[in-house]
Amino acid sequence: MATNNMNMDGMMLFEQPFARVPYENYRKVFRTSQKNIEKELSALQTTANDLMKRARAGEGSPEEALKAVEGMIKRTEILKRKLAELQNASGLPTLSVTRERLEHLSTVESITSANGPEFARWADTRLDRWLVDWALRNGKEKTARSIARERGIETLVDIDLFSDIRRIENALTRQSCTEALAWCSENKAALRKVKNPLEFDLRLQEFIELSRIRNLMEAIAYQKKHLIQWQDTHSAQINQAAALLAYTPATAFGPYKRLYDTARWTSLVQSFRLAIYNLSTLPTEPLLHLTMYAGLASLKLPACYDHETKNVDCPVCDDSFGALAKEVPFSHHVNSTIVCRLTGRIMDDDNWPMAFPENGHVYSKEAREI
Ligand SMILES: [Zn+2]
Repeated sequence: MATNNMNMDGMMLFEQPFARVPYENYRKVFRTSQKNIEKELSALQTTANDLMKRARAGEGSPEEALKAVEGMIKRTEILKRKLAELQNASGLPTLSVTRERLEHLSTVESITSANGPEFARWADTRLDRWLVDWALRNGKEKTARSIARERGIETLVDIDLFSDIRRIENALTRQSCTEALAWCSENKAALRKVKNPLEFDLRLQEFIELSRIRNLMEAIAYQKKHLIQWQDTHSAQINQAAALLAYTPATAFGPYKRLYDTARWTSLVQSFRLAIYNLSTLPTEPLLHLTMYAGLASLKLPACYDHETKNVDCPVCDDSFGALAKEVPFSHHVNSTIVCRLTGRIMDDDNWPMAFPENGHVYSKEAREI
């Protein structure tokens, strides 16, 4: 790696979510298996203890004991089948995606030059991946699917993840928290670890909706069941929301009116998207933009934003790329590069600049020969 001219660390910075998403998926499969095993093993343990107790007390017939043991065997067989199904349907496919992605990343480590055809091929695949990522983030799932299929990179992109995102966001747009809450419960531990308040926000919204339709009995029950457990961290919000029991959407004012505002649903969509990006270590902006920022920062000059000095060959001077480059810093040139207006070549020690005595205009030495 040290012998090649590529910035491997810089390249790998962009690849974290690429490896992380299948890892997270596998972790979920593993957790489900573990839960199944724990549940069945504890049931077996209970039956076994019970049998032993009865045997010691001299209770129960051998037939009953046999029946109980048979029941235990059956349970174990069902568990075995369940685990095998889970592994075949979700575990193995996820593992093969992980393997393919890691192989894709390790290929680049064996490439020695950034100028060769091997790297160009690898970078083409990477660009395709980023185009799919861009399309998925902008709701162009059909485009994403067709690029992935055409380029044969289905295992290298996260179409399923974004289908999930779209399904849950659509539900939120229809003002239903059910899907998002199910996602929260699947990812409970991870959300708690990063102290993400999405679940509380969703619960609060369901409470607000019950108050809106003046179903007060149910609202009070909901508050006890789902909001009180957040008391330690969200007591102010819980107390404020409780006042909605007294205010209808028509009589509410100030903060209570804001709680009834249906724009809260839009911010729930945003919070959900941030939470799911966060858990998958996906950046909030398309990877394509992030990589372009790097390139644009090396080209951006104050002149790019001056109508008089726009250059047709400069991407930053272009309005659309210029908009993307707005936030990036200007490029830093230690030495100016002077380009000859006549030959289009850089002027340096081999092709030095020469000035006309009459008007002071500077052209390169090579320009004399044309
Ligand atoms: Zn420019």
